Amino acid sequence: LIWTEQRNNSIYDEAGEIVASVGIVRDITERKQVEEKLQKSEANLVEAQRIARLGSWEHEAREDRTYWSDQTYRIFGFTPQQFVPTFEDFLNAIHVDDRVLVQEDMAKLLRSEQLRDGIEFRIVRADGEIRFVQSQRSVALDETGGLIRMFGTVQDVTKRKRSEEALRESEERYRAVVQQAVEGMLLFDLSTKRILEANDAYQVLLGYDAEEMLGMTLYDVVAHDRKSIDLHVQRVVDEGNHMLGERYHRRKDGSLVEVEVAASLISYGGRSAMSVVVHDITERKRAEETLRESEARHRAMLEASPDLVFRVSRDGEYLDFQANDESILSVPVEEIIGKNLRDTMPPDLIPSILRRITKALDTGEMQVFEYQLLVAGGIRDFEARLVAAGSGEVMAIVRDATERKALERRLEHRAFHDSLTGLPNRALFLDRLEHALARAGRHRESVAVLFVDLDNFKVVHDSLGHEAGDALLVAVAGRLREILRPEDTLARLSGDEFTVLLEDIEGTSDVTTVAERIAAALREPFILEGREAFATASMGIAFGGSSQESPGVLLRNADLAMYRAKETGKAHHEVFHPEMNERALKRLSLEGELRRALKRDELRVHYQPQVLLSTELQEHLRASGQMAIIAQKAPESPRIVGMEALVRWEHPERGLLSPGEFVPFAEENGLIVPIGRWVLEQACRQAKEWQEQHYSGPHFTMSVNVSTAQFRSPELVEDVARVLQETGLEAGMLTLEITESVLLEEAQANANTLEQLKALGVRLAIDDFGTGYSSLSYLKRLPVDYLKIDRSFVTNLGRDSQDRVLVSGVIYLAHGLGLKVIAEGVEKAEQLAQLQQMGCDLAQGYYFSRPLASEAATLLTSNSEPSFSGVCIDPLSRIDQS
Ligand code: C2E
Ligand code: MG
Ligand code: MG
Repeated sequence: LIWTEQRNNSIYDEAGEIVASVGIVRDITERKQVEEKLQKSEANLVEAQRIARLGSWEHEAREDRTYWSDQTYRIFGFTPQQFVPTFEDFLNAIHVDDRVLVQEDMAKLLRSEQLRDGIEFRIVRADGEIRFVQSQRSVALDETGGLIRMFGTVQDVTKRKRSEEALRESEERYRAVVQQAVEGMLLFDLSTKRILEANDAYQVLLGYDAEEMLGMTLYDVVAHDRKSIDLHVQRVVDEGNHMLGERYHRRKDGSLVEVEVAASLISYGGRSAMSVVVHDITERKRAEETLRESEARHRAMLEASPDLVFRVSRDGEYLDFQANDESILSVPVEEIIGKNLRDTMPPDLIPSILRRITKALDTGEMQVFEYQLLVAGGIRDFEARLVAAGSGEVMAIVRDATERKALERRLEHRAFHDSLTGLPNRALFLDRLEHALARAGRHRESVAVLFVDLDNFKVVHDSLGHEAGDALLVAVAGRLREILRPEDTLARLSGDEFTVLLEDIEGTSDVTTVAERIAAALREPFILEGREAFATASMGIAFGGSSQESPGVLLRNADLAMYRAKETGKAHHEVFHPEMNERALKRLSLEGELRRALKRDELRVHYQPQVLLSTELQEHLRASGQMAIIAQKAPESPRIVGMEALVRWEHPERGLLSPGEFVPFAEENGLIVPIGRWVLEQACRQAKEWQEQHYSGPHFTMSVNVSTAQFRSPELVEDVARVLQETGLEAGMLTLEITESVLLEEAQANANTLEQLKALGVRLAIDDFGTGYSSLSYLKRLPVDYLKIDRSFVTNLGRDSQDRVLVSGVIYLAHGLGLKVIAEGVEKAEQLAQLQQMGCDLAQGYYFSRPLASEAATLLTSNSEPSFSGVCIDPLSRIDQS
């Protein structure tokens, strides 16, 4: 059996996950043994002193009479009744080896030398036992120096002598142990604090040699003030063996070394001394420091959600289990330990989990995966991480991800559905169309796309208003849904455009019948705002039947056919013919025109302010009853902290075109790259100019949109760096807006591009958030600064409680990831008030200002420092964009 001292620490990786646990075991057997021995010898000494008693004796020389006290008889092993002692008896009792010693001592006495110290010698008692005695003695002499009387005391010191011998022995052993010990050991005198012994390890630790050490005191080696040293020493004296804890000792070169000391009181050569074991803890301290840091990081990452942490063996045996929240367990903790994964998880999950355990063990790579489980509280989502933890064990860290997954599912649903009618949107429609085409190709069947566009929607919208317009769309969607088969896909593309995907078509008439049924269904009047309204639709039909066909082309063909129906009197349907491609040809000319537009300087950049939503503003909103705050010139009115650059095309015949009318073409044919570069230059130059004229505040940023094609082009990073250099704009004042859907494809390549942009110092924003499929856990890994919530969410804030939940969830999550949130398309005070309440950081929208031409934007910026109040921008009398 050996004595050990043991410490365990967890080791964390970069991400703050536990990867291993390290135990340090030290063999302290030697130290323990020394301590025990010393305790024993100390006890012996005390015992010896307790029983020590003095005997006295006298010798009258002239009368030759000797007197012994009772104690003296006892020491010599006689009883007083046995005999009357003579001086000879005394001398005879002395051990032969010590007689000379005693006789010489007497001779000295007779020469009247003053002998202060007692003499120690051995006697042989009456029973033959040898004892050590100590004697104090004195003489009385006459004038001539003749002996009158000799007298003194005698004391049995056998026990003390024996214990001293034992002590000497143990001290020798102690010294041997001390010298061999790996730990530093130190022995000092309790009263003088002088160092009596210091082993090699201790000398090496402090950098002294043996001789130097012995001339030193405790105060020289301990780097604390005298008072505190004395206090600690006293504590050991008072409390016995004592772990003194962590202290600093000083090296010869003056540097400090952090040590852990354990001290115990011992008797050493008859003196009170203290033995100290000194353990260098520099390494441990360093490890603990790193541990603390990573622990803090770890805690910060985990704080938001309760976890399960457990270890399992290769075949799924639970080795331990820890739950922060038992409500997310399907089985109580007590029942888990000692069981197997198979006993506590549904069978269908087991193979894949075991596979990941094996992979974690064999490759050492962390395995991250998600799963669902039915627990007491219902179905919950979990995110699990598995790491190899040594000796064939895997550590699992499981986080409840139910809320995040729910948010993701809602966002996903929202990304593929129209929020007004709940129908699939363009993205989902195209996806289904693609699958349908592939199926049709395999089974030699046909599919058809029916494009439905209401003829008089604009009239309804403009005469009855926005709400009535929405109500009409919802009602139309309802009627279309009713007459279609459940397997037909009905989608709303945008505005008043609906599409129907029909599969398994046998002839044209199958589809024209559906078109006629739709026309009939719309014939019944709609009741809007208490009034009857009528709707008709123009419809276009296109057929497809192979996976070679692009869903986009098929949809466009149906659109062209619908267009033909509009041109030929509305309220009927047309089937697509290739001649209808004229419209597509028109696009080609548009491309040529756009190419020239760059050269002819027909492009413009408009700027839309981004304002800071502060708590003061919120207060103000409340106080002013959510009135149009901008018109009130209030001191707390919103601060412009940025502008978004939005491109426009001043077409010589068609007037000012919005990006929606040409950016998609420019994206298709790659023209967006030169256009985007031009916009970037303009915007950076403008931002620099505002800064130089002190129009913009210190935190001002210019936001520039980067399209998908631009983002993928290899020149982007170079272009941005060059433009920043040429215009002299600080990188931190530029924000690049990248649309969400771009980021989800080719995740790794994108992350690289983003990292490179980030390395330039520019900020990054995710634009139109919520319109693509949004994996929120993926966001964590992107180096973005802002998240722009898409306008469609903001528009719905007032009326859709689902979207309210979504928006506040997204804001909460974004903040958790350290992102700032910008709300796009804020048009109403109610929307603004809600966004404020949800903690949204920035807002942008017509409520504050439309995008403005450079001069108007300059005016706004120059007057808006530090706030908006200088310029009266009434949202109701919107400033003309041009
Ligand atoms: P975006 O980046 O999401 O820009 C916001 C759009 O919302 C702008 O439309 C803006 O005028 C509009 N908007 C802002 N506030 C409101 C509001 O309160 N209500 C409404 N209804 N709309 C509001 P715009 O200028 O037509 O730009 C449309 C899109 O075109 C932009 O969306 C952006 O994706 C793209 N785009 C604009 N300029 C550029 C450019 O220079 N380069 C590239 N690649 N794309 C651009
Ligand atoms: Mg944008
Ligand atoms: Mg946007």
